[in-house]
Amino acid sequence: MSKQTQRKSMKYEKKEYKKTRTMEANWYLSSYNYKFNITHMQPFLKKMKQKKLIGNKCSGCNRVFYPPRLVCGECLVKPDRWVDIRETARVATYVIAYLKNEEGEVEERPLVLVQHDGCDTTSIAELAPGVDVKDTYIGLPVRAHWKDEPEGGLEDIEYYDLMEDDAEDLQ
Ligand SMILES: [Zn+2]
Repeated sequence: MSKQTQRKSMKYEKKEYKKTRTMEANWYLSSYNYKFNITHMQPFLKKMKQKKLIGNKCSGCNRVFYPPRLVCGECLVKPDRWVDIRETARVATYVIAYLKNEEGEVEERPLVLVQHDGCDTTSIAELAPGVDVKDTYIGLPVRAHWKDEPEGGLEDIEYYDLMEDDAEDLQ
């Protein structure tokens, strides 16, 4: 059984609120500044620069997060261990994006969520240029394609190259 199905389902209870008073108002979201703290990402970003992948692991549920998370959404604790994960991954799901190229023509491109081997979460990614939407499927094995000179960021993986599917004999 996968970890996903073992997880206890969280119940959301909608409360009845008594309406008191209504006021006309505007809420200008653009006037707010929000600083996102990425200090928990530092060991991860350092490894990215060396073309190595790590995720952080929650000691409550043993899930491994890539990209690392500040807090486990289920256990509400900070993941406290770093573990190596592989640069190979599988396409967990995908959508077809219709993008205009420089000539103004609409191109079909697969936009994928990849799950790296050794981790429990997915991240959004692009497949190598030229990969046809028709060749994309759930479970497609891929491998991270690194930038020539990584800078220590999530963009260090430019896209994902296709790999030989080793599950052919299972069909
Ligand atoms: Zn957890």
